[in-house]
Amino acid sequence: KAVIEFKDVKKVYPNGTVGLKNINLSLYEGEFVVVVGLSGAGKSTLLRTVNRMHDITSGDLLIEGQSIVNLKGKALRNLRRKIGMIFQGFNLVKRASVQRNVLSGRVGYYPTWKSVLGLFSKEDKQKAVEALKRVNMASKIYTRADELSGGQQQRVAIARTFMQDPTIILADEPIASLDPKTTKSVMDDLKQLNKDFNMTVLANLHSVDLALEYADRIIGLRAGELVYDKPIAEVSRSD
Ligand code: ADP
Ligand code: ADP
Repeated sequence: KAVIEFKDVKKVYPNGTVGLKNINLSLYEGEFVVVVGLSGAGKSTLLRTVNRMHDITSGDLLIEGQSIVNLKGKALRNLRRKIGMIFQGFNLVKRASVQRNVLSGRVGYYPTWKSVLGLFSKEDKQKAVEALKRVNMASKIYTRADELSGGQQQRVAIARTFMQDPTIILADEPIASLDPKTTKSVMDDLKQLNKDFNMTVLANLHSVDLALEYADRIIGLRAGELVYDKPIAEVSRSD
């Protein structure tokens, strides 16, 4: 089942820079897709069109069969709720506990007066514990975010995403500036969520080695164009 479909998608920034040129691409349920390409190739732009952080200039973009280009208000919030985002240097609230940060994933696009006051249901708190267990961070639940290492923070960000019950995860350079060991644990966590919940993951990475290790499919961008698209079984190192 196609979860994300790009149809002749073009993105031109207001200053005239072409971010994406006529992208045609379908991503399927449960796929772990890694986007590779040089800096400036359009990887971030591609990811950011999926949750409408960036609007496309022409073409169409479908999520679960529904065009998202004209969504507004509540429909747009519903779309974003389905999509978890893990971005580089992810902004946890530094002075707040891990628990609060994770619970804020629940507030997300649906703030209620209770959540604004920091009152969360028992179910939500239990869910936060479960999410933290998944990323091996349950023991840090009351630790302040700014006392965690970079990799631990990224894992908390993953747990926070999890509170939304997303069907799609966008990961923009999720491991930039992490050491190799931490990188592996963050990538393993992402892979685990992908497998356990059949979430579609679209991740942009600089490292070809990591792409080869974790992806089901690798796509390559160059100057805004899709120039490579192969399932991992057909990828050869010499490509
Ligand atoms: P990548 O993620 O592969 O490094 P980007 O998607 O960030 O590439 O950028 C693709 C192209 O679009 C680059 O030429 C970049 O400079 C340009 N670009 C990205 N964001 C903007 C923006 N907000 N305004 C204008 N140009 C942008
Ligand atoms: P990164 O990919 O490391 O997050 P970006 O290349 O996206 O960094 O740049 C950071 C910010 O600057 C982003 O908001 C991006 O949209 C914007 N940006 C990137 N290139 C340009 C550009 N050529 N003109 C204007 N804004 C840009």
